[in-house]
Amino acid sequence: MAATVKSYKLFIGGEWVDSVGGETEPDINPATEQTVAEVAVATREDADRAVAAAQKAYDEVWFDTPPKERSAMMLKLADAIDADADELARLESIDVGKPISVSSADIPFITDNLRFFAGAARVQEGKSTGEYERGFTSMIRREPLGVTAGICPWNYPLMMAIWKIGPALAAGNTSIIKPAEITPLTALRLAELAADILPPGVLNVITGRGSVIGDQLTRHPVVRLVSVTGDTATGKLIAAAAAETVKRVHLELGGKAPVVVFDDADTEKLVETLKFAGYTNTGQDCTASCRVLTGPGIYDDLLSELVPAVESIKVGPLDDESVEMGPLVSAKQRESVAGFVDRAQEYGKVLTGGEAIEGKGFYYKPTVVAEVDQKSEIVQQEVFGPVVTVQRFSDEDQAVAWANDVVYGLASSVWTKDSGRALRVARRLQFGAVWINTHFMISAEMPHGGYKESGYGKDMSMYSLEDYTQIKHVMAALD
Ligand code: NAD
Repeated sequence: MAATVKSYKLFIGGEWVDSVGGETEPDINPATEQTVAEVAVATREDADRAVAAAQKAYDEVWFDTPPKERSAMMLKLADAIDADADELARLESIDVGKPISVSSADIPFITDNLRFFAGAARVQEGKSTGEYERGFTSMIRREPLGVTAGICPWNYPLMMAIWKIGPALAAGNTSIIKPAEITPLTALRLAELAADILPPGVLNVITGRGSVIGDQLTRHPVVRLVSVTGDTATGKLIAAAAAETVKRVHLELGGKAPVVVFDDADTEKLVETLKFAGYTNTGQDCTASCRVLTGPGIYDDLLSELVPAVESIKVGPLDDESVEMGPLVSAKQRESVAGFVDRAQEYGKVLTGGEAIEGKGFYYKPTVVAEVDQKSEIVQQEVFGPVVTVQRFSDEDQAVAWANDVVYGLASSVWTKDSGRALRVARRLQFGAVWINTHFMISAEMPHGGYKESGYGKDMSMYSLEDYTQIKHVMAALD
C-alpha cells in the first residue's frame, strides 16, 4: 500500500498559501526512492510576497518587541521542537537519508543552539562610550538589520535553518528561510510549530529553486542580509548578486578538512574519530575529516587499522537504530561521488569501497583512497560523500603546506601528543576551526565559519549575533 503523501504550501505572513504559479514538486526519500511529500514551488512573486510579509512584521510588531519577549518566544519554540523531536527526526531522516539514530541525535543540539540565541538576545554587549568632543555625548546602538533571508543546504536542513533563524530573531530581525530544493520537510515542520508561537510574518518559509527564489531574495532591496550555507560556487553567485543592493552577505561554504596526523598520535582514538567524522551523514558534511595527512612513521599502521574500521560501518535502512550510515542524498550526488572515486582509481589506490551498493536507494560504500597526489582533484575538491583520502607527508612543514594548499579554509585537526607542536601547527593552519586530538566538535557558544573560499561570517556564538546586527552612532549636543 502506498504511504500517504503530504502536500506542503508556502508559509508566508503566518499563513499557508499556494504558490502563485500553482506548481508543486515531489520530495524523494533517498533510501527508497519513493515520493514522501509534494512541495510547492515558489515563484519570484512569492518571494516578493514573503519579503513584504517579513517587512510588515518587522515594522509593525518585531521592531517594538523587547528582547525579553523575543527571547521567551524563542524558548517556547525550542520547547516545541523538543516536544516534536520524534517527528522532526523522522522527517529529516526520510528527506536527507540520515539513519534515524543520526537525525535524532541532532535535535538536542539544535534546540541548544536556539536556546543560546534566546539568551543572547538579552545580553548584547558593545563598546563603552562617552564625550569625545567637548559639549557632545556619544552612544552606540546595536540595531537589527530588518528583513533577513536564510538560504539553506540539504545536508543539515533543520540545523542550518536554526543557525539562521536564531541570530536573526534574537537580534530583532525577521526571517525568510529558503530550504534546499530536495530537503524542505523539517523547515516546513518548523514553520508549523512556529505558527502558534511567533507573530505572523516574523518567520516565513518558502520552497523552490535557488536560481529563482533564492536569487529573488538575494536581489530584493528590502532584504538587508542574505545568509547562505552551500557550495562555494553558489556563494560566489550570491555575493555578486547581493552587491547590486549592497546587502550584507554571510557565507558558510564548502570545506575540505585536513586531519594532520603526526607519528606520535593516538591511533586508536584517531581511527574511532575518523570512522565517525569521515562518514557520518554519509560524509556530506563541510567539516568531514575527509583528507588525512599522516607522518611517515604512522602511515602503514594507520591504514591497517582504518580500513577494517571503515568496513565495519553499518550501512542500511534508515529506521534501523543500529545503522550508522545511510544513502547519499540524491542520484546526482551519488553520481558525482562515484565520478571522483572512479577517476581516482586511475592515479590512486582504492583500499576499500569505491562502488555503489546495489538495490533501491542512493547507497555508496564507505571508501578509503590512498596514494593520491596533493594536486589530484580528489584531494583538492569537495567530494561530499563517504570518501576519505590518505596521504603521507615527510615533515611538519610539508604537512602544513599540504593542509593549507586547498581553496577552502573551514575546519581542520591536528593529532599529536606534543603540545608545543599541536599549538604551533594550529597557529599555522589557515582554517576557521582547528581541533587538537579531536575532530568535529562544535558548541553553541563558539563560532563556526570559514577562512578563504569557505566564506565569511560566523554561525553560532555571539559573533553570529553581531553579524545579524548593525552599529549606529548617536551623538547629542549637551546644551
Ligand atoms: P548548494 O550551493 O547547491 O545550495 C545551497 C542553497 O543555495 C540551496 O538552498 C539552493 O537552492 C540555493 N541556491 C542555489 N543557487 C542559488 C542562487 N543562484 N541564488 C540563491 N540561492 C541559490 O549547496 P548544497 O548542495 O545544498 O549543500 C552542500 C554544500 O553546502 C557543500 O558545499 C557544503 O560544504 C556546504 N555546507 C557548508 C557548511 C558550512 O558551515 N560552511 C555547512 C553545511 C554545508
